[in-house]
Amino acid sequence: MKEKQRSTPVELSLFSDEEMSATQHPSRQSPEPVSQTATAEPDGRFDALFSRLAQSEFRSSFYLNAADKAYIARKGWDKIRQGAAETIARRLAPAVISNDGRQTPMRHGVFPPFIAQHATGCCCRSCLLKWHGIPKGRALTAGEQAYLTDVVMEWLRRHV
Ligand SMILES: [Zn+2]
Repeated sequence: MKEKQRSTPVELSLFSDEEMSATQHPSRQSPEPVSQTATAEPDGRFDALFSRLAQSEFRSSFYLNAADKAYIARKGWDKIRQGAAETIARRLAPAVISNDGRQTPMRHGVFPPFIAQHATGCCCRSCLLKWHGIPKGRALTAGEQAYLTDVVMEWLRRHV
């Protein structure tokens, strides 16, 4: 019981001057800040990316048609997100991808995140390098996968 008291001063010593002066960071201590941004963060994060994409005639030519929108409505955002995350994990995350450049279908009505992946440069490792600065030849980190999933989801929300 007495042990409880000890945790507070110990934590405080971890947050030294550095933490105090820098920002008012939240008090939660997360050892891995990487994947914390996975869900429902504000859109502003992607504004710079989306304005770059808007300057590409190819990237900005993608849209959702009625079949894609119906698909999203039928499945719901949670399922779509889950599917997008799995797609990224399976088709983009490995260090070596045998069909890289051809792993993301472009047809409408198949799976709307595919369209969003093309629109956002999340379709293959060459595009990840070009648009997101993520190098080829190594596996994507969990944080990168979460970020790419967020990008895809944000594009879908803006185009549905
Ligand atoms: Zn690509």
